[in-house]
Amino acid sequence: MEEEPTVMNVTCHTGGCSVGGVTYTVDMYPNAELPTWRAECAQCGQPITDVVPASVS
Ligand SMILES: [Zn+2]
Repeated sequence: MEEEPTVMNVTCHTGGCSVGGVTYTVDMYPNAELPTWRAECAQCGQPITDVVPASVS
């Protein structure tokens, strides 16, 4: 059974990060363990806690 990716908006809020405050829309798969949505900033490498479904406006 294939899982469909969920479109999520992720925003890094790390101070000094070159993409801090910039929201990216990415396809994500939920984790089996919490946190369900886990992302890492491609620029600063810090975990991103601001991960919300793109369908939520
Ligand atoms: Zn960052």
